[in-house]
Amino acid sequence: MNTEFVRVVGGGLAGSEAALVLARMGRTVELWEMRPTVKTGIHETDMLGELVCSNSLGSDALRDARGLLKAELRVLGSPLMSIADTCRLPAGKAFAVDRREFGACVTRAVASSPTITVRRSEYITLDPAVPTILATGPLTSDTLLENLRQVLGRDNLFFYDAIAPSIWADSVNESRVFAGSRGGSESDYVNCPLTQDEYYAFVHALQTAEQHLPELPGEQRFFEACLPVEEMARRGDDVLRYGPMRPVGLAGRPRDCYAVLQLRSENAGRTVFGLVGFQTSLSISEQRRVLMMIPALHDVRFVRYGLIHRNAFLRGPSVLTPELALAACPRTYVAGQLAGVDGYVESIALGLVAALNVEAVLRGVARPQFETDTMVGLLVSYVTTERDDFQPSNANFGLLPTERTGKQHSPDREEFARRSLACVSQIAAGVSEWTTRA
Ligand SMILES: Cc1cc2nc3c(=O)[nH]c(=O)nc-3n(C[C@H](O)[C@H](O)[C@H](O)COP(=O)(O)OP(=O)(O)OC[C@H]3O[C@@H](n4cnc5c(N)ncnc54)[C@H](O)[C@@H]3O)c2cc1C
Repeated sequence: MNTEFVRVVGGGLAGSEAALVLARMGRTVELWEMRPTVKTGIHETDMLGELVCSNSLGSDALRDARGLLKAELRVLGSPLMSIADTCRLPAGKAFAVDRREFGACVTRAVASSPTITVRRSEYITLDPAVPTILATGPLTSDTLLENLRQVLGRDNLFFYDAIAPSIWADSVNESRVFAGSRGGSESDYVNCPLTQDEYYAFVHALQTAEQHLPELPGEQRFFEACLPVEEMARRGDDVLRYGPMRPVGLAGRPRDCYAVLQLRSENAGRTVFGLVGFQTSLSISEQRRVLMMIPALHDVRFVRYGLIHRNAFLRGPSVLTPELALAACPRTYVAGQLAGVDGYVESIALGLVAALNVEAVLRGVARPQFETDTMVGLLVSYVTTERDDFQPSNANFGLLPTERTGKQHSPDREEFARRSLACVSQIAAGVSEWTTRA
């Protein structure tokens, strides 16, 4: 077997996954992570696999695209998915984890791997000679981004994204909340109800509140799937109460409840709550003023304010080969959000695929074929197939080629899941033969 080492750049979700997958196959890995020497402005720790915002990894139901993606990753033996399973917290239908525990477990798994060496330095220029997986994520350092622009001959796209605040659980007024989740167990969410008058006063305050927008090059655009609440409020008075503040499906809601803000625990001790779907780019003083209008949050203390940040990604279809390698630098593969997916689990998935693709090349075997019968395959196809107006995407059934679904029909999800899991089982069996043969 070829004994070359692989360099993985970025110890986030995609990079840690890729490093652990390669190490499991006996590959020597050099994992570069710039934190804590160089900071991203968003990550708070020096842990590998840090979840930067919400502690939810989305649905775990097989009929949901992100749930199916998780199931596929489990079949493929994803190391990070297996760690997530051990750090799971109760969160109704959502799959939430204790984020500190998750990061700590990923860091330990990497540190205890005998074939991974971690280099805590900023990686700056591509090295075409070394097989490399670039997984530096949405907050890729400026110097590396600049170098990528030069090598790829075109600008990266930027858009803006916002994150939600976190608050101390003991600062929430317990007499103004009720427990309950939309479809989960009662204790998973804490709901802060608003009456009709309170709701419209809150929405009108959001519509006129001052935003904090950093000056960044490029057109100012938000990611449609993750709009700041003030942006949603500006689109119409009722958008929020049909969106993240919808009061439906909550058994214990008061009779005059017109809208709710949901809080979800971010740690096993339930000392910190995240505001569900409340990403915001308001200035800090405005976040305090407006959020304190919600009766349960009159005296709230913030652990972290919401903020707006840059989100960098490559225009995958123009620069990536179907193997996820850079056409301009074929021994460099790209994984995670930088390749053009959005989401924690999606980033993990591309980390796994990039690792298998590099390993296949080094072993001189055929790479696994993730067809569009699988959620993993749909994501790979999305970031490598030419399309207009490319934007990062999370896993969803809309990624299915239209000739497969027909214009009017959505796929039979049970059938799709059955086929996809059979397909990834075959891939997993094929991959395990690589190591038994070696
Ligand atoms: C603020 C923010 C909030 C988000 N919230 C969510 C959310 O709630 N839910 C969700 O599903 N997705 C969210 N995302 C989107 C995305 O899924 C996550 O960012 C995810 O962590 C991406 O995984 P990744 O491995 O591609 O990048 P990351 O997990 O960010 O890992 C990249 C790593 O590379 C390191 N790095 C960067 N440049 C260099 C360099 N030059 N040399 C060495 N190391 C480098 C970074 O320090 C980092 O550790 C969010 C993104 C951002 C930026």
